[in-house]
Amino acid sequence: MELIDSHTHLESFHQRGEIPEILERARENAVGEMVTVGTDPDDWDLYRSLAEQYAGQVHYTVGLHPCHVEADWEEALAKLPYFFTGAGKKPVALGETGLDRFHLPKEAEEAEKIFAWQKAAFERQIEWALEWGMPLVVHSRGAFGECLELLRTKGMTPEKTVFHCFSDGPEEMRALAAWGGRASFTGIFSYKSAENVRQAAAEQGWDQIMLETDAPYLAPVPHRGKRNEPGWVCHVAEAVAKYSGEPLETIAARSTAVTRRFYRLGESA
Ligand SMILES: [Zn+2]
Ligand SMILES: [Zn+2]
Repeated sequence: MELIDSHTHLESFHQRGEIPEILERARENAVGEMVTVGTDPDDWDLYRSLAEQYAGQVHYTVGLHPCHVEADWEEALAKLPYFFTGAGKKPVALGETGLDRFHLPKEAEEAEKIFAWQKAAFERQIEWALEWGMPLVVHSRGAFGECLELLRTKGMTPEKTVFHCFSDGPEEMRALAAWGGRASFTGIFSYKSAENVRQAAAEQGWDQIMLETDAPYLAPVPHRGKRNEPGWVCHVAEAVAKYSGEPLETIAARSTAVTRRFYRLGESA
């Protein structure tokens, strides 16, 4: 059995000097590869160097996360194209980018100002993904309709778009699928209260599912509440297998194939 953690953040493990043991524990859980996802210029260089050091096991993306969008977002984004056009290992996608209404300040005027920056930064990153033919990792919290609308307006390629950590319901999933985009699922799938998320995954179809940890957050059952790590994507797979009635090996093989195709893993040097 082979699994891929299609969306993780390795920075906190690096800061504690834990990368070798985290990768080892992942391998013990059949997780041979992972995609470490950039959130702002502070982690892009680190992720490129990890992808170079652990080639074939660690892949990376660069993007400006909506919760990291501030007044200087243009300056931050100016550092992004180099990763695609310059020397060194290339990212496998652009993102994460998107819209997040959850973590906005309470004050309405301030919130709208920041949300407008998020939109502008998202638009710029969609344009680049189109220009460079790259897959796009979308982060959407409390803004599903607005994200989809913006992607549609900008003419983003649906097959190259993933809404990661999908936490909306079957209705939103139908809208996403009708457009032609896909979703990936975290440990939230294993949480008792998340029946709407399980139904959304069922709506997409068990042969289309992509799995992720979004570590160090959102640890799946039976580790809920602890610090998450890439190897635990096996527990997300187990939860999906149990709910769907499909054998674990089938879920693993399909999600791995979908992830490989989406990020074109194994094709780049
Ligand atoms: Zn996210
Ligand atoms: Zn993330």
